[in-house]
Amino acid sequence: MHTDDAVIKLIKAEEKRQREGLELIPSENYVSRAVLDAMGSVFTNKYSEGYIGKRYYGGQENTDKIEQLAIDRAKALFNCDHANVQPLGGATANEIMYNSWLEPGDTVMAMRLDHGGHLTHGHPVTYLAKQYNFVRYGIKNIETGEIDFEALRATALKEKPKMLLVGFSAYPRELDYAKFAEIGNEVGAVLVADMAHISGLIAGKALKNPFDYGFHIMTSTTHKTLRGPRSGMILSMGTVSNPLKAPDKTVENLPTLIDRMTFPGMQGGPHMHTIAAKAVCFYEAMQPEYQNYAQQVIKNAKKLADSLMERGFKLITNGTDNHLLLCDIKTSFGIHGGVAEEALDAIGLTMNKNSIPNDTEPPFRPSGLRLGTPAMTTRGLTEDHMEQIAEWMLQGIVHRSDAKKMASLRAETKEFALKFPMPSDV
Ligand SMILES: *Cc1c(COP(=O)(O)O)cnc(C)c1O
Repeated sequence: MHTDDAVIKLIKAEEKRQREGLELIPSENYVSRAVLDAMGSVFTNKYSEGYIGKRYYGGQENTDKIEQLAIDRAKALFNCDHANVQPLGGATANEIMYNSWLEPGDTVMAMRLDHGGHLTHGHPVTYLAKQYNFVRYGIKNIETGEIDFEALRATALKEKPKMLLVGFSAYPRELDYAKFAEIGNEVGAVLVADMAHISGLIAGKALKNPFDYGFHIMTSTTHKTLRGPRSGMILSMGTVSNPLKAPDKTVENLPTLIDRMTFPGMQGGPHMHTIAAKAVCFYEAMQPEYQNYAQQVIKNAKKLADSLMERGFKLITNGTDNHLLLCDIKTSFGIHGGVAEEALDAIGLTMNKNSIPNDTEPPFRPSGLRLGTPAMTTRGLTEDHMEQIAEWMLQGIVHRSDAKKMASLRAETKEFALKFPMPSDV
């Protein structure tokens, strides 16, 4: 057997980096050995274009069962009528979702990108922005994170969006889904929740589920708080039918419209090894321990927020309801977010520079720093460890030009990290 030493060396080096550092990027996590094993399984050898019982190739007795397991578990976990587990990632899931309901030129209402919305919510650099007309809502008060529902309703009444999209990559507060649904229904918009960041916290019942408030569609990644393989999914309410031609665009037909747009509309063969890993991840998320995990992620984030604020960090909305924190580094320390990111990286704390609402700095040199607790909670950290992390963050920023002090901080964080095994170790 031949081995590719160059690649094995890099895998080992990455494993060491992950093991010895404190991972605070809010969109990252550590998966279990079972998820890794499914990803590395022989399902990667198999083509399964189509859907269960309707494939374009033979030999599907196992793939059909694995996809059915993933679908059943996703539906149970999120309490919805339909799950399409074939989307290859979060961005792809969103593209499929838009295209399944909208026609080119249609209007979508989504969160301002500088208030926490994602690239795929119509950033001007994306192809989506050429296809659809994106209009915006945002935060009314940065001190509380309160959404400006009055302005949202006025824009909705004027622009008559076909879709109202909620969800974010950098917003630390819980969303008032009922209020969004009320306004969306008033203008006849389909209600979509992009829960890429928080689907794990919803599955773990630590945050509200948009389907409980009349939302029609939920898109998500499966690798952020959900702690599964790097991939995506689209969940929906409605009835699955099996028409020979595209069904009418009614809300009841959303599951069928989504399935047809996923395949053959936009994708080819689904990644069955990843679908197997999604089935494992959903199984893990259905266990009682997972609810403890989801609760702990939020407890840790709140404690970390308090510990940072005590040390002079200004936090956007002055705290958090979920897993993520957004620091206004420029106001706190007079430096850009990127300078803090680099300093903290040097002492083994990984997080990312980020724009803050109404940022006066350009996106490539933003004022903010975004961090979160999902990965470190998976490693086993609790509230008791958050003061220490906050203190390291302060020290790392303050002493960023003192090489000797930085080296000793790095040694401390490494010794600390090594006490907490990666879940894939077992
Ligand atoms: C991460 C994210 C995505 C995109 O997921 P990818 O798997 O990176 O394509 C989409 N929407 C939101 C809100 C996200 O945070």
